[in-house]
Amino acid sequence: MKYKAIYLICSIFPLLSQPSQALEICGDKAQGSILLLHEENVHEVQFQNKKITPNKEGDFMLAFDRDDQLKQSLKILYKNDEQNYPVKNFTFTIEPTKWDIQKINGVPERKVTPKKEDQDEILRENQSLRKAIEENNSKTSYWKQGFQMPLKEYRISGKFGGQRIMNTIKKNPHRGLDMAAPEGTEVMAPSDGKVVMTGKNFFYSGNMIVIDHGQGLHTIYAHLKDIKVKEGQEVKQGEVIATVGKTGRVTGPHLHWGASLHNIRFNPEKLIGLIQKDTCINL
Ligand SMILES: [Zn+2]
Repeated sequence: MKYKAIYLICSIFPLLSQPSQALEICGDKAQGSILLLHEENVHEVQFQNKKITPNKEGDFMLAFDRDDQLKQSLKILYKNDEQNYPVKNFTFTIEPTKWDIQKINGVPERKVTPKKEDQDEILRENQSLRKAIEENNSKTSYWKQGFQMPLKEYRISGKFGGQRIMNTIKKNPHRGLDMAAPEGTEVMAPSDGKVVMTGKNFFYSGNMIVIDHGQGLHTIYAHLKDIKVKEGQEVKQGEVIATVGKTGRVTGPHLHWGASLHNIRFNPEKLIGLIQKDTCINL
């Protein structure tokens, strides 16, 4: 009888320690992309030294930097009654992305190699952006209805990840999508969110807005003419937030659209269609 009881415990235990759920992954598994994941009963996700908490539906996102390694792994800690969080490790491969090299000539010299007196301005810009992103992380999943492009009509004039050679000087890779449109064109919120920064006259970005879409996801709008929203304001998808301008370091009017997940910059175009279930696989 005693023997039978021990046998029963041993056969049940593996079921408790080995969660049988399937991890669902949606989106483009590639450098500079973002993925939407879904899993039941998750306590915490550990990815690239970050601890991520899914929303109550079990949704969370992961983004890959431009130069991220192709072999990726994540660790999921599951909820259970004993509160000892059984762990499951997942490994997967992302695709390499080919990046553009863009040559831009005729940029004013002080905008290519900033003068000493411009350095304080650049510092103010970097600190404001970092503060906006790091200190405003809503737990509300504002992003849930999906994303649309922030301009109705545009021409892509600079891709994400491209490296610019300005007046023969190699610059840092481009961390956004440049969308050329006439000055004054309306810029719309691509999804619901909360405005967490409205900055004016930055050295590189000119007039800039940052929107918090929740769960570590932010989008950035730069070189704006007029800003139509205030910090702390909630916005709805399609609502006009600004107009296209040529403020900051530009050669013509365009919107620089940036996206950040847990402070990792990725290609904002990858947000379009992310919510559509036909891109999803089970891992
Ligand atoms: Zn740009």
